Amino acid sequence: MKKSVNPYNNKVLYEFEELSEKDIKEFIKRADQAARKWKKESFPDRSALLLKAAAELEKNKQEYARTICEEMGKPISQAIAEIEKCTWVCEYYAENAADHLSDELIETDAGKSYVRYEPLGVVLAIMPWNYPFWQVFRFAAPALMAGNVGLLKHASNVMKSAEMISRVFRRAGFPEGCFQHLVVGSDAIETILKDPVVKAVTLTGSKPAGSSVAAIAGKEIKKSVLELGGSNALVVFEDAELDSAIDTCIQARFQNTGQSCIAGKRLLLHEAVADDFTKAFLEKVKNLQSGDPADQDTYIGVMAREDLAKELEQQVKDSEAMGAVILTGGRREGAYFEPTVLDRVSEDMPLFKEETFGPAIGITRFKDENEAVQLSNATEFGLGVSLFTQDRERAERLIPLFDEGAVFINELVKSDPRLPFGGVNTSGYGRELSHHGIQEFVNKKTVYIN
Ligand code: NAP
Repeated sequence: MKKSVNPYNNKVLYEFEELSEKDIKEFIKRADQAARKWKKESFPDRSALLLKAAAELEKNKQEYARTICEEMGKPISQAIAEIEKCTWVCEYYAENAADHLSDELIETDAGKSYVRYEPLGVVLAIMPWNYPFWQVFRFAAPALMAGNVGLLKHASNVMKSAEMISRVFRRAGFPEGCFQHLVVGSDAIETILKDPVVKAVTLTGSKPAGSSVAAIAGKEIKKSVLELGGSNALVVFEDAELDSAIDTCIQARFQNTGQSCIAGKRLLLHEAVADDFTKAFLEKVKNLQSGDPADQDTYIGVMAREDLAKELEQQVKDSEAMGAVILTGGRREGAYFEPTVLDRVSEDMPLFKEETFGPAIGITRFKDENEAVQLSNATEFGLGVSLFTQDRERAERLIPLFDEGAVFINELVKSDPRLPFGGVNTSGYGRELSHHGIQEFVNKKTVYIN
């Protein structure tokens, strides 16, 4: 049985019966049948349905946002923004997929030679709870436009979101089996992924989950894309425009109550501006509005589950025991974790070397560019980094030195349907979004005609 529990008040919202092995086989069979037909649909026909999905999201965005808010504690205004972003990604791929996947002519000795992009078939998507709609649409919009069909295994605590997403596609008029969610736990993944009908897998989640799924996919020689954890640095140089950098860093760390893979989790400050920055940053952190996620004015809700808040509490306590100093926050109450800032954080502390998935940030000071780059790169992750400087030439010179999937200058790392998204090192491999994302789950078929 899967349960959805409102982390703000511990009320059990929904219970879902898990699928039996027989049920799972039925779902896979339906997906297979759908895939055989769906791949023959034209781009305009696929686009028309995806635009209907976008319209359905827009029409009922309050209801969808409320589901997110109740199920994982996201403040309602941010949940609405999440639904709007899902609408955007649907519209983006409805408009651009045909271009992304048009035949690519290549001059050779042949009379004609080119690459055709053909769907793989059934793709399994294993998704996390932190953006319960966005993570799924980020996968589903390009996958469906490419002619693939989706099987979703959502995180166990957001099965209502999964059900609602299936409803979006059903209401939009997608043929039966094109998109289905499975009420299963992670113990069912191996059987599903080993089924010959399932051709590929994408997982957004933690390193252990990614490692386990990639091992199965590897054994079965099935394509996988992994979007895993991160510990992005926010690097503030001595010439940064401090007011705007502070606002951006607040948003980078604290939106979604700190539960984002691309959140800025480590604040690296040049020693010349560290004190001024810290003073003004702290003021803003103390003014962040905590409260009921359902209230329009709430910026910091609760974390998605109490056990996750306890984990963060432990990381903060352990870092403090190793010499870090709590400047504000540090208190936990149930699933609520107070916005927290620690100073004197060093490389060996959990707050620096582990991913912190909640509203806490550690400050580390640096004396020059070399040290900034070294500190930024000193984790096992590689999703992204933000640099704050007014010296554009310096910023562009430093970009190649960061072992990251993305470098953002004077901006928080954020996803955009038009830009590729993904990491290096233990943050995963493969890309989502843009033409790079839609080309992950296709057969790039070489055609040579003489
Ligand atoms: P998680 O525990 O890894 O769960 C993610 C998904 O994987 C869930 O559906 C989960 O199912 C499933 N899962 C867990 N263990 C598994 C296993 N051994 N085999 C197969 N599936 C397994 O991660 P989370 O706590 O939900 O999400 C937070 C993590 O996701 C963070 O590390 C965050 O950085 C990362 N994340 C990355 C991105 C990105 O784009 N790079 C985006 C968002 C989040 P159950 O719920 O049933 O366990």
